[in-house]
Amino acid sequence: MRDRILANLAEAASTKDPSVRKRLLTFTFIGGGFAGGEAVAETEDMVRDALRYYPDLHASDIRFVLVDGAPFIFPELTEDQRAYVLNQLRERGIEVKLETFLNSAENGVIKTSDGDEFESDLLVWNAGVKPAPVLSDAESSDLPVVTERGPMMGKLEALADLRVNGVDGPLDNVFAAGDCTAVPDLASGEGKFCPPNAQHAVRQAKRLADNIARSVQGRPLVDYYHRNLGVMATLGMYKGVGRLQVGDKELDIRGLPAWAMARAYHVYAMPTFGRKASVVAGWATNLISRRDIIGIPQTETPRAAFEYAANTGKKK
Ligand SMILES: Cc1cc2nc3c(=O)[nH]c(=O)nc-3n(C[C@H](O)[C@H](O)[C@H](O)COP(=O)(O)OP(=O)(O)OC[C@H]3O[C@@H](n4cnc5c(N)ncnc54)[C@H](O)[C@@H]3O)c2cc1C
Repeated sequence: MRDRILANLAEAASTKDPSVRKRLLTFTFIGGGFAGGEAVAETEDMVRDALRYYPDLHASDIRFVLVDGAPFIFPELTEDQRAYVLNQLRERGIEVKLETFLNSAENGVIKTSDGDEFESDLLVWNAGVKPAPVLSDAESSDLPVVTERGPMMGKLEALADLRVNGVDGPLDNVFAAGDCTAVPDLASGEGKFCPPNAQHAVRQAKRLADNIARSVQGRPLVDYYHRNLGVMATLGMYKGVGRLQVGDKELDIRGLPAWAMARAYHVYAMPTFGRKASVVAGWATNLISRRDIIGIPQTETPRAAFEYAANTGKKK
């Protein structure tokens, strides 16, 4: 996505056709949860930074549109924080369409339920993921899935010990975890399920492996329990928002501290010391040399652009 956007900037700067330029510089994001909200905020920040290399392009040429069917974005944040993020995105020129749905996206034309219709060269879908249909298709699986409409629909029904809950009680030999499973969230209370994120998935995987060993050894199974320490989102360089659970208190963190904490957490979560060091070194280099705006294909095959320009080869 980053490469596509950077390539579009270069192409738009070299075309004189205003309609082509407009299409190339219109980026549409569907879904304003953490993935969609962070994606639109981060890419807008990157584009604003990259514009200094394109004197022929102006910030007003760029259009970022974020569409969400709900009356708010970032549902995991508090109401006050949601308003803060919404204001910040709008102040930065991102069009946020709330209570609006994508009606169609055909031949590069986006149509939304508020009657808007525009050409866009990039559509980023962040409006949720569905569990693999192999689970709910009666021909391929007879495992019980959640049939009630909502975020858990189509997911395997599991007990807190990660055994799949069959029609006549728990299935002793079928375990499940991760995004495809509705796992009771014991830390959040009755009737709540773990949200689909890597924080839960990797922890559930460890609990699941231990419970399989326990079941083979005839020892009692242990319930999955994880108390979320908070959420953190970055909204571009040095910008962020989040909330952190410290004991019984919830801290509201915004701006640079939230950005720094989100980065620190990602380093902590990165496996192996070598990778942690490499990520931190990359960030440190960026601080000195500013953000790199060269696309990954261009760094891997720098000759391709020359061949294309000289018309001696095909575009790669
Ligand atoms: C854009 C985006 C941003 C995200 N950001 C964050 C974040 O910042 N923090 C966070 O905690 N979480 C984040 N998540 C969520 C996180 O990626 C998932 O919760 C996590 O990957 C779930 O792990 P999983 O193993 O359950 O499923 P997956 O990682 O989806 O793995 C499932 C695997 O099963 C394979 N598979 C599917 N069907 C079959 C089949 N029939 N047979 C064999 N294999 C099959 C798939 O190919 C895949 O490899 C993000 C997700 C997205 C989409």
